[in-house]
Amino acid sequence: MLGWLRRRRRKRIREAPVPETWAAILAENAPFVARLSEAERARLHGHIQVFLAEKHFIPAGGMEITEEVQVTIAAAAARVVLHLDIGRYDRLTEIVVYPGAYKHPDAAEGVATLGEAHTWGTVVLAWDAVLDGMRHPRDGHDTAVHEFAHVLDGASGSFDGAPSLHASEHYRPWAAAMQRNFLRLRRGDRALRRVLRDYGATNEAEFFAVATEAYFERPDELAARAPALFAELERFYHPKRRGKPRRPAP
Ligand SMILES: [Zn+2]
Repeated sequence: MLGWLRRRRRKRIREAPVPETWAAILAENAPFVARLSEAERARLHGHIQVFLAEKHFIPAGGMEITEEVQVTIAAAAARVVLHLDIGRYDRLTEIVVYPGAYKHPDAAEGVATLGEAHTWGTVVLAWDAVLDGMRHPRDGHDTAVHEFAHVLDGASGSFDGAPSLHASEHYRPWAAAMQRNFLRLRRGDRALRRVLRDYGATNEAEFFAVATEAYFERPDELAARAPALFAELERFYHPKRRGKPRRPAP
């Protein structure tokens, strides 16, 4: 679709009234919404509307795709790009949802998967893991946020832990902060392990996704234990806040 046509279409979608049913769903499943400002909430709603209008939800493993499932998952996706353009998800076309952990065809026997993201436009999520992550907003673990971070990463062409940054001069400090803290986590640095899950030591892509979970769920701890990493994530996820007093990320 042409850029201007899409922009006009999205504007129309954002201006449509938000269904009354959303308030209860978001209050129950997405407690982060309650901490947003009014302007942020309006922006989030707009992102959710566009996301629901453009992405396909595909049930798997006996899952039923209800409005609750769609709005909850879209809210997680919208949260990650709240201060970015929803076009960051343009390559994403479908969200496959299983009721619970599923067996990935490539996984070893007995290893269950909670979610995955593919460059070719599919995210796969386990609904119970999505709910568990979103309803515990301070434990640093959020499966949906993790997978949508992978989508942003993959949109730049490869899963390498670097999404498209806002300016070319951001890449060098980004890489330095990522690299240094990735190596800290690999070494088992105790201070860092208190805010970043060990899974982040798997590779650079997982490090970025795990660091994103910590940025959204435990921003103060991340800022205290890895200030350079926090600053780079902040500059990417919330570019307009640069230089302003910080408060916990939504
Ligand atoms: Zn991952």
